[in-house]
Amino acid sequence: MVMKSGLPLTHIWPHSATIMPARAWFPTLIYCESLQPSGLARLNASLATECAQLRDFDAAGRRWSAKNYPGGYTSYASLNQLHQFSSTFAALEKKLTRHARAFAHALDFDLRGSALRMTDCWANIMPPTAAHSLHLHPLSVISGTYYVVTPRGCPGLKFEDPRLSKFMAAPPRRADARRENKIHVTYPAEAGNVILFESWLRHEVAPNRVDAERISISFNYAWA
Ligand code: FE
Repeated sequence: MVMKSGLPLTHIWPHSATIMPARAWFPTLIYCESLQPSGLARLNASLATECAQLRDFDAAGRRWSAKNYPGGYTSYASLNQLHQFSSTFAALEKKLTRHARAFAHALDFDLRGSALRMTDCWANIMPPTAAHSLHLHPLSVISGTYYVVTPRGCPGLKFEDPRLSKFMAAPPRRADARRENKIHVTYPAEAGNVILFESWLRHEVAPNRVDAERISISFNYAWA
């Protein structure tokens, strides 16, 4: 059977066995893809080395992290334009921008002749116990994370339904709710993967409970 829109019903309700008059609108898109088809191990080894060097070098960042990122290190408030600081990060920027463009295409963004531009890029090192509480990325369009080192069992990236503050008397969702009806989703952290989302989407990283450091690189894109 085909709807008036031309979309087959199976496309609209892939998990539903029955035909229903309810359709999904206003989706929240999250992008997850491998950065590149090969050469990830070598790239990640050099990024991990540079991130460790940054932590050694960046006294201001260590001080800021001690107050604002307990147990961890982030260059968010000190060295936050790493794509303009190092050739390794500049090369990473080029690759990430290709993914950001693909995501903007999936979102049907009309950039009015402007290009997406990376404005911020910073490193995050999460030793055991470090966490990153719920937040969003103001003043940006697309944000994301690239995973450099992800020890087995380290926390993923948890997203929250952006309509949560409007739910009022809405009942909770069943434990077996369809994927698109869940109010949280956690993407596992996998070295070599890039995750992109619209910058207003709130997200968090649970405490790292494994005995090894998790390393990631976060970034923002603007359009102008
Ligand atoms: Fe974030």
